[in-house]
Amino acid sequence: MLSWDIVEHGKPLQKALKETPKPQGTEVLVRVTRSGVCHSDLHIWDGYFDLGGGKRFYVKERGCVPPFTMGHEPLGVVEALGPRARGVKVGQKRLVFPWIGCGKCPVCRDGRDNYCLQQRFVGVMKPGGYATHLLVPHPKYLVDASGVDDAFAATLACSGLTAYSAIGKIPKLDARDWVAVMGCGGLGLVAVAILKAKGIRQVIACDVDEGKLAAARKLGAKLTLDTRGPDAAQRLQQLAGGYLAAAIDFVGMPATHAVAYPALRKCGRYILCGLFGGEITLPLPPIAQRAVAVMGSYVGNLRELKEVVALARRKKLKPTPVATRPAGEVNAILEELKAGRVLGRVVLDFERVAAG
Ligand SMILES: [Zn+2]
Ligand SMILES: [Zn+2]
Repeated sequence: MLSWDIVEHGKPLQKALKETPKPQGTEVLVRVTRSGVCHSDLHIWDGYFDLGGGKRFYVKERGCVPPFTMGHEPLGVVEALGPRARGVKVGQKRLVFPWIGCGKCPVCRDGRDNYCLQQRFVGVMKPGGYATHLLVPHPKYLVDASGVDDAFAATLACSGLTAYSAIGKIPKLDARDWVAVMGCGGLGLVAVAILKAKGIRQVIACDVDEGKLAAARKLGAKLTLDTRGPDAAQRLQQLAGGYLAAAIDFVGMPATHAVAYPALRKCGRYILCGLFGGEITLPLPPIAQRAVAVMGSYVGNLRELKEVVALARRKKLKPTPVATRPAGEVNAILEELKAGRVLGRVVLDFERVAAG
């Protein structure tokens, strides 16, 4: 098998030829055909997340030590089964649910693997999908996405799922309420599409890039806001007529928080998904007086992935812009993503490996 590995954080990934693993027990060997490139891969590649104030969280502290294969949006074909793997057949095309926990603790037994304390996330702690082959611990983590375009389906494993799970945390809306989507990159755009599919129409898409705002309008955002300028929070509040019930922040930097959080109505929710980094200072009394919530949302669970895939299979979900490129171009793609030059998502094609 071939994989593209982090050998040194921040340096180009290196192609490695390895022995293809043999599935044991309930494991399934998947031959990867598509693998999405996610913005959070940039942090794993760099080796840390920025906690603000000069503080960093290093990915090696949760077991991501080079040489390491990233890639948490893999889709592929079942190539071999371990002796105890049931429910899937060789040759079937499947999307891999990557947010796998220990499988034994109360959180996992409750179907919330993504919040397990002993995570074994594919492409984050375990070898991921920037490779021709991938071992999945159990067939239950394989989702049938047939009928959905392969590249778009791959992106549902992280960007689609993360957006879907965050949208599930929006408080109960009434007719006057609005929802803001902060950041119209890969996640924000799919969020706009999911909100529309779920019948939530009063959506304000926010970004600093007119091209991304235009893409959000195309996917169904009723209003858009260019958040450059010091009065953006006020403009957002006005656009929502004072009824901004929720803001989902897919960027997660002090500047996006500074726009979204003050614009919320009473009992509104600031839902944070983006991992750009930094820190904020919040005055305490208004949190109580306005009864607002600041809550995090991290990827999603298997049930939610099946739900978002079902939306896509029923053609309810308008596909977001996805470019498919030969897998060997992964280093160029990471650089483009870092420079903010990617509209929507890029997905690696392992059936066209080409140079690199
Ligand atoms: Zn991701
Ligand atoms: Zn667990």
